[in-house]
Amino acid sequence: MTKQRPICPNCGSADISRDATARWCDETQDWTLSGTFDDMTCDDCGRETNGPDWIDAGSADAEIYVFEIRASESELPRGWYVRSAEGLNGPFDEEWKADREQETIEARRKRLFNCCADNLAPDWSRFASLTVGGCKVDPEDPGHTLGLVCDAEAQFWTVYARDKDGCSEAITDCGARAEADQVAQELYTLSGLEIAR
Ligand SMILES: [Zn+2]
Repeated sequence: MTKQRPICPNCGSADISRDATARWCDETQDWTLSGTFDDMTCDDCGRETNGPDWIDAGSADAEIYVFEIRASESELPRGWYVRSAEGLNGPFDEEWKADREQETIEARRKRLFNCCADNLAPDWSRFASLTVGGCKVDPEDPGHTLGLVCDAEAQFWTVYARDKDGCSEAITDCGARAEADQVAQELYTLSGLEIAR
């Protein structure tokens, strides 16, 4: 059976909750769901619905998915949208255009945040600055990477974010120095963190 996920027909959010009754159970010593009602509320737009749309949860990453707005009562114009951690993009008049936009967002994540969890931007408030460093695989221990090597020796370059105590966290790896400098510049624009030399 393909797994499905209900989404809000008005804004496409998957953050919807359903009204229900719970009864106390002596045996489990906990509240047990005894019934659900038809009404669902969207935690994002606050609208109620009794007929959510459904997307294929098996292929759809909760952090990014394509959906269609058809509901005439929606504040959004009809069409296809991409919903992601970055925001809402659309409407597109055809599904393949929304799919292409999703690929663009995913490619951007892989370029800017390929060392971060789920390739998503970190919480920038934890950091004080950005820095670029050359890296190479440790010849004595191939599973281990050596950081802060000179450009002539580097095999790839990592953009790090440094916290207030000077500890660095890898944000993204790049194949070339110029690419790493370009990414650092983009991350500076996004985060406001200075690039330390
Ligand atoms: Zn909604």
